[in-house]
Amino acid sequence: MSRVIIIGAGGVGNVVAHKCCQESAVFADILLASRTVSKCEAIVQRCLARYPESNIQGVAVDANQDDALDQLLGQYQPALVINAALPYQNLPIMRACLRHGAHYVDTSAPEPDPEKYEMFAYHWQFELDEEFKKHGLTAALSFGFDPGVTNIFCAYAKKHWFDEIHSLDILDCNAGDHGRAFATNFNPVTNIQEVIQPGYYWENGRWEKIQAFSESCVYDFPEIGPRKMFLIYHEELETLVKRLPGLKRARFWMGFTETYMKHLEVLRNLGLTEMEPIEFDGAKVAPLEFLKETLPDPAGLGKGYKGKTNIGCLFEGVYQGESRQLYVYNVCDHEAAFSETGSQAISFTTGVPAMIAAKLVLEGAWNRPGVWAPEDFDPDPMMDALETYGLPWAVEEEVSCVT
Ligand code: NDP
Repeated sequence: MSRVIIIGAGGVGNVVAHKCCQESAVFADILLASRTVSKCEAIVQRCLARYPESNIQGVAVDANQDDALDQLLGQYQPALVINAALPYQNLPIMRACLRHGAHYVDTSAPEPDPEKYEMFAYHWQFELDEEFKKHGLTAALSFGFDPGVTNIFCAYAKKHWFDEIHSLDILDCNAGDHGRAFATNFNPVTNIQEVIQPGYYWENGRWEKIQAFSESCVYDFPEIGPRKMFLIYHEELETLVKRLPGLKRARFWMGFTETYMKHLEVLRNLGLTEMEPIEFDGAKVAPLEFLKETLPDPAGLGKGYKGKTNIGCLFEGVYQGESRQLYVYNVCDHEAAFSETGSQAISFTTGVPAMIAAKLVLEGAWNRPGVWAPEDFDPDPMMDALETYGLPWAVEEEVSCVT
């Protein structure tokens, strides 16, 4: 029976709130805090309508402000904070958890910015490892689907299915249709920054860099069929290549439709995907932040969204002296996700693992002081829980390859 704060009232925060209310025996007291309090209140109303026995309230907070976080955590005294806001809030919220004795869970890491700092994204969060250990607190990083469940699939494959994994391809395919000309499925600023950066993959012990969208493949997905996929850099590769001994190659592929690619190309050509502020009417504005305001709110895409996602890991390696290849994946239906929570499948597949990770930390199975990537935990309890909370997984042994 624990008190938790969920920070962020977007599509993902909405799913986390619903799933915590579903488990009111663990999440006895829930505070949903975000920048725009009306969004918290709308989610609270939906949660109470579906789970009338749950105990949830909404409140405003600006998680970039240390004093606002101190007031929030000081008054509410949560056992754990789930950060469902943006990766820019990871560090302020982690530090507030240290000051107020709360465990911490989030869903993603900030995008690397090679112009300003090093290529990879987790560095700052792992620097807090000693502090978390000293305070006896657990920080479970990046528990969405990818990163998150994809890391857990890797840990599970290493533990149960392979003696050595030689090749890893993470495949993220959204075959859904939201009916809009152009929209991103999660926060437009983080989504667009993620896909336009150079593509990195790991081969023979080093990182190879390619131009954005310069490598593609077609993969034949279970329940979806063939889809064109592009090689992009994604944060889970950073930790996975260090934790899978014997790995020779690791890549991440994401599917984009031609319409999405066409719009993105035009927006890039117009300079609207830049984060460097420009002056407009006496004010400094980052073009991408401005663009975000003109695009559909990802949290509002759910109604009428049709089709499915298929996200999974394709492994090649060796088991008991024989070579082995398999694909482990989840299929999530946008309409089913929406009818349960009011959010589409991308938010659903992100919010469910965040709740499960929080539950495992609070119940003790994953109470492990320090700062950890998902694959640092025993994967079995999460693999057991995924189907219970709406994300069943499946394995195929006869798989097509990514070439
Ligand atoms: P949204 O933009 O819909 O929601 C973000 C929420 O955070 C908004 O409610 C926003 O408030 C709030 N917020 C932003 N800044 C602050 C702040 N300073 N203080 C308090 N609240 C703040 O994004 P999503 O819900 O779609 O996604 C949330 C995050 O989840 C993404 O940024 C992404 O990194 C991660 N994600 C991870 C995935 C995975 O598989 N690992 C997949 C998809 C997303 P306001 O409403 O006022 O703007």
